[in-house]
Amino acid sequence: MPAPSLHSLEDTIVKARHKILDGRKIAAEILAEVSEKIDDLAQSGFRPNLVSVSVGETDASQLYVRNQKRAAAKVGIGFEERIFPEDIGVDELLGVIHGLNVDPRVTGVIVQRPVPEQIPIMAMQSAVHPLKDVEGMHPSSIGNIVYNDLVMGPCTAVAAVEILKRTRLRLEGLEVVVVGHSEIVGKPIAFLLMSEGATVTVCHHMTRNLAVHSRQADAVFIAVGQPGLVTGDMIKPGAALIDIGINQVDGSNGESKLVGDADFESCSEVTGWITPVPGGVGPVTVSILMKNAVVAARLVRDQYTKTFGDA
Ligand code: NDP
Repeated sequence: MPAPSLHSLEDTIVKARHKILDGRKIAAEILAEVSEKIDDLAQSGFRPNLVSVSVGETDASQLYVRNQKRAAAKVGIGFEERIFPEDIGVDELLGVIHGLNVDPRVTGVIVQRPVPEQIPIMAMQSAVHPLKDVEGMHPSSIGNIVYNDLVMGPCTAVAAVEILKRTRLRLEGLEVVVVGHSEIVGKPIAFLLMSEGATVTVCHHMTRNLAVHSRQADAVFIAVGQPGLVTGDMIKPGAALIDIGINQVDGSNGESKLVGDADFESCSEVTGWITPVPGGVGPVTVSILMKNAVVAARLVRDQYTKTFGDA
């Protein structure tokens, strides 16, 4: 038998190391930690109680709500879904959010995406009181990341970085490329990683040659919303790939299916670690939301105790 070429030997080593980062398993571990903290809050009268605000009903928002509701039930967090008509006005919706802010029974508010065009999502997220901002999307929550003050971080970004930590790669000095620089995903990921000591490059639609950057990286995060944007030949062998994208595409059987932004087949041939879609960042995001719900309930409880004293 001829000796394996150096190239095929390298292939074998890389394939042997290749590991799926199972988001469902990580989420279950986080939810187990969350559930341990609920009793104490419930005994003091502040069981976390989330209210989800949806405008209209889209497949995407219904899926998010379903997953959040299921996770909340699992750990004993209250979850109430409120759906408003598609043509609701901005002032009316702001009124709803302000009402939830001052309702002592509500400890966290979620504004589901997408919202119809007439609703400025950022204004809605800014309207949620920072103490009840379980999604970590209020400008003050996003701004706190710059100071590495992670009281309630933006769930998807925190989830994506948490998954990278599970590889046990040493983050100090790690070369990381983040593809996509949205305010709620790409930019916070970049800041969180900088706080961990990683060397971070952020790519976006004006980046001249994405592959030049991604091939240098020990870890690649993709959050764009373009299936197949990153392929195996753009990844350094052995690197970690965290795929945040969620895209609905037509499957070979004619039915639609969910895929990420990376071409899983070719990328998983070269990566050391890779997240699947679905079953990767999504479930971990929901578990971080529940973790934030506990933090918010504590903050709300402390605020009431400070104002009114112990009941
Ligand atoms: P946005 O549309 O807000 O941002 C997309 C980003 O991708 C922008 O920064 C854009 O840059 C960049 N971009 C566009 N084209 C390219 C390109 N060719 N090369 C590199 N960068 C490009 O999306 P989000 O950040 O909200 O979401 C991104 C993806 O993550 C979506 O698929 C979404 O569904 C998914 N998502 C998943 C979540 C989860 O829990 N798993 C939660 C939230 C989102 P520019 O602004 O310069 O055009």
